[in-house]
Amino acid sequence: MPVKNRFAELQDEITAWRRDLHENPEILFETHRTSAVVAERLKEFGCDEIVTGIGRTGVVGVIKGKTDTSGKVIGLRADMDALPIHEQTGLEYKSKIDGAMHACGHDGHTAMLLGAAKYLSETRNFDGTVVVIFQPAEEGGGGGREMCEDGMMDRWGIQEVYGMHNWPGRPVGSFAIRPGAFFAATDQFDITFEGKGGHAAKPQETVDTTVMASQAVLALQTIASRNADPIDQVVVSVTSFETSSKAFNVIPQRVHLKGTVRTMSTEMRDLAETRIKSICSGIAGTFGGSVEVKYFRGYPVMVNHEDQTEFAAEVAKAVSGGCDEAPLVMGGEDFAFMLEERPGAYILVGNGDSASVHHPEYNFNDEAIPAGCSWWAEIVERRMPAA
Ligand SMILES: [Zn+2]
Ligand SMILES: [Zn+2]
Repeated sequence: MPVKNRFAELQDEITAWRRDLHENPEILFETHRTSAVVAERLKEFGCDEIVTGIGRTGVVGVIKGKTDTSGKVIGLRADMDALPIHEQTGLEYKSKIDGAMHACGHDGHTAMLLGAAKYLSETRNFDGTVVVIFQPAEEGGGGGREMCEDGMMDRWGIQEVYGMHNWPGRPVGSFAIRPGAFFAATDQFDITFEGKGGHAAKPQETVDTTVMASQAVLALQTIASRNADPIDQVVVSVTSFETSSKAFNVIPQRVHLKGTVRTMSTEMRDLAETRIKSICSGIAGTFGGSVEVKYFRGYPVMVNHEDQTEFAAEVAKAVSGGCDEAPLVMGGEDFAFMLEERPGAYILVGNGDSASVHHPEYNFNDEAIPAGCSWWAEIVERRMPAA
């Protein structure tokens, strides 16, 4: 079975919604216009319940099937937020807001889930309940976590959740997925070495923080090369090195390092945190300085559940004739919080040969709409077949 005919018919309308969202990008939790547009559309479609303000600016819509003998409730989630990037696509519907851009395709995700909501509200050809979830702040703000903390899963009795992301470089409308750990945990660290500043020509009178911090930058790489099992994954990247002096003849009193850690398991995450702290305090001790290490845990590892992943892949095969095994992704994904609360699966849909996500020339490919929408609709109709 290829894509559903109804979505081929609706493609122009869904494309227009997508381009309107593209022109009006909003960052993090500031998705006020987007949330209002989503809520308005859900109302037009005749959703049974629409609630705004879940996870600050998140929107939840409920669509009941023709019958509900199964008692099943499935959550379908899309993200709505844009990025603080200056768009350079030159599109006629390019961002009207300077310094904000839909560079991750969340405009497409929102439009596709709206398309599915329209179809499901029209047809209701299933036995159970669908909860459509539109979240803000996927790009680092934890909007998904906040929706969970607001009690969304229990309030609507959601039993399974599904998510989707477009993927540049994959043939448009094709799918890829993997069970188990899929997207990385994303943590940050903030390290301050304190020494004794002084004249650069009299190093013997100083405790040189630049030397200490430089040792640390190199030593932190041994977490991946010497501490981690080579078949596990860990990335430790120092991304900022700032001394407290800009002068060429001063040994700075302080050096500040920042960076990120990406891991694919809780064990590796714990190991990285412990080793960063002990490596830095060891180096500070060796050179006679002191150090403060702050470690911030961001999104957890996003883990696809076996059973739902198998089902999601079957649906993808039905829609587009195949489903590939996706590689591990060292980026993070806020949907991880929803998958910690309920079983579910997250799938990639091809965006064709486009610029990569987060690039100023990226654009969501509207040709992916029929496949993406069909996948959502089939998830519902196959998981909760009409009685
Ligand atoms: Zn992104
Ligand atoms: Zn994204």
